[in-house]
Amino acid sequence: MDEMIEFLHDGPLSPIKKWGTKWSIWPTHLVTACCGVELAHAFASGYDGERLGVLNFGMARQTNCIVVEGAITRKMARILKMTYEQMPDPKFVIVMGVCGIKGGLFWNGYHMVKPFEVVPVKYFAPGCPPTPESLLRCFRALQDEIVTGEAKNTIAYPKIRRKKEEKRKKPKKIPPTPKYVALNPSVVVDVPRDRKWDYGTEYRGKIAEILGELAERVTVTGIYRIHVRVRLENFVEAARKLRDSGFDHVKSVNIIDIPKNRKFIVEYQVSSYLRPEFVRLILTIFTEIDREEASFPSLIDVWPSADYLERELHDLFGVWFEGNPWMGKPFLLAPDTPKNPLRKDFRLQEEVYIGGEKK
Ligand code: SF4
Repeated sequence: MDEMIEFLHDGPLSPIKKWGTKWSIWPTHLVTACCGVELAHAFASGYDGERLGVLNFGMARQTNCIVVEGAITRKMARILKMTYEQMPDPKFVIVMGVCGIKGGLFWNGYHMVKPFEVVPVKYFAPGCPPTPESLLRCFRALQDEIVTGEAKNTIAYPKIRRKKEEKRKKPKKIPPTPKYVALNPSVVVDVPRDRKWDYGTEYRGKIAEILGELAERVTVTGIYRIHVRVRLENFVEAARKLRDSGFDHVKSVNIIDIPKNRKFIVEYQVSSYLRPEFVRLILTIFTEIDREEASFPSLIDVWPSADYLERELHDLFGVWFEGNPWMGKPFLLAPDTPKNPLRKDFRLQEEVYIGGEKK
């Protein structure tokens, strides 16, 4: 058997085998991020990548190439490894985008994994996103390598030499100091000055009437936006009253971490599908909880649509939603991920490699 393989690899039939492999690169689809759009572009009618013998395929077991399209997260790293291991030899990996090289704009994300730590990468297409041309150049380089056995950098950077006189004539330019410094961008939570929401006061009155003494403060913060501050001990009762008045679903649950004051602000954004006058309104009810013993009564009995969001916040902030059966189980994060990554005092850790040894 070994002799036959050798005969095929290095014997008289090897040129035919290499020729066949060269023109039969079939990448499996592993779209992980926005670079996938550029891959689609490379194989659409404009660039027609198929003319190079590169045909995208759906099944890992019938493919010999993976194009990692951008960012790989801890969860995706497993899939990448599993897909790679299912593919028959010879197999190749091409990585697109800066996300796949150094993490790109997610460079310090707790969830990022570098693909070359998971599978052996042949070629990188740098850029954000890389162009379809650069992806096709990776395929061409790979095809050359299959035939010649030699990997080459496909980009040659020409060295530009400046004349000495030129150097002396032109002094080094230092950018001038800016005349205007832009203010830091900030989020303004208020009604824009030039626009008025005529019914704001009326709605504030209605909400105050529904909640009575349960509401500490009712504020109009924008067009169709009202904030209600409620004490923790009154939160469930206030939620029930709102639900009974027509606020039938939760749109979002958020937590704001304020480590300096040792507190979390927990807010539920609720709205209505069924009561026409409230349909456009987004009502935020919020309260504060102790950050060290972060526990909050779950509202899934009041609004079942809060379930998924509470689980997510439990993962990300470690808040215990009392009564939600998912507490204590990992939901979004992989089991070996550091806990509570959205707390402000979360420390970035050394990359913990998944499914193998870190090089
Ligand atoms: S490199 Fe840019 S385009 Fe590609 S996945 Fe990352 S952010 Fe998206």
